[in-house]
Amino acid sequence: MLRLSQIKLSINHKEDEIKKAILKTLNIDNKDLISYKIYKQSIDARRKKLYFVYTLDIEVKNEEKVLKKNNKKVTLAPDLKYKYVNTGEKKLKNPPIIVGSGPAGLFAGLILAEMGYNPIIFERGKNVEERTKDVERFWKEKKLLANSNVQFGEGGAGTFSDGKLTTQIKNIRCRKVLEEFIEAGAPKEIIYKNKPHVGTDILKKVVVNIRKKIISLGGKFCFESQVTDLIIEDNKVKGVIINNTDFIESEVVVLALGHSARDTFEMLYKKI
Ligand SMILES: Cc1cc2nc3c(=O)[nH]c(=O)nc-3n(C[C@H](O)[C@H](O)[C@H](O)COP(=O)(O)OP(=O)(O)OC[C@H]3O[C@@H](n4cnc5c(N)ncnc54)[C@H](O)[C@@H]3O)c2cc1C
Repeated sequence: MLRLSQIKLSINHKEDEIKKAILKTLNIDNKDLISYKIYKQSIDARRKKLYFVYTLDIEVKNEEKVLKKNNKKVTLAPDLKYKYVNTGEKKLKNPPIIVGSGPAGLFAGLILAEMGYNPIIFERGKNVEERTKDVERFWKEKKLLANSNVQFGEGGAGTFSDGKLTTQIKNIRCRKVLEEFIEAGAPKEIIYKNKPHVGTDILKKVVVNIRKKIISLGGKFCFESQVTDLIIEDNKVKGVIINNTDFIESEVVVLALGHSARDTFEMLYKKI
């Protein structure tokens, strides 16, 4: 796979003009272009006329020859496939626990489920369908439910965040997030658009589909299940207490609490 950068086209360009630009820039025949996809699209607004500037990932016949001939314009495309971290050698006695089902908890759950760990996700709020009703009621009647609101519930603060997918980090793993969003129903363009936007209506479906995927891979969700205590013995995590009553054993607890759970942070502050 090769990467071709700085392909500039008018913002009103037709779909086939991308292909034409590739053929022209690389000086190759149509039959030698196997496929292409947009890696990145940004807007050049420096002059009166607006342009899209594309970075394209392309598959061609005779890759080496094309690369050699166009060494200033094309490079080898980096391998963008998500790489899972190495696992330990000892088998876990219990499934890992994730506290919170915001973006952090959902993706920790997804990765662990994909790796075969059957994680259990505890979320103090309700599933997104029930939560949406509570949020709508709050906006109409101004009655706040402490554990089911814009901050707490499935999808976390992310669900009602409007979904401007911005991040300050440049990390290959961001692509995995976008790919999973698309698989779960987000628009395909988010993968290449600069500062993409999903919107709360779509996000709510995306969150449900990510939950379904985690469950299909062996994960489990427990809603209205607030972690009220973290059990530590001999400096090792032993498990959590749910809703002040049930002990759930696990030697791995991922705290994906966001920044609104003051009560949980106060509990942890006393513990750790
Ligand atoms: C109104 C608003 C708009 C935003 N807009 C954007 C935006 O457009 N783009 C953007 O990138 N970011 C936006 N953000 C920020 C973004 O939502 C957060 O950065 C993101 O949600 C953080 O993810 P998280 O998983 O770390 O935490 P959270 O999303 O806060 O999720 C934490 C979850 O943990 C659960 N939890 C907490 N304590 C416990 C406990 N003791 N037991 C069980 N569960 C618990 C909570 O119920 C919650 O569901 C917005 C935030 C808000 C509030």
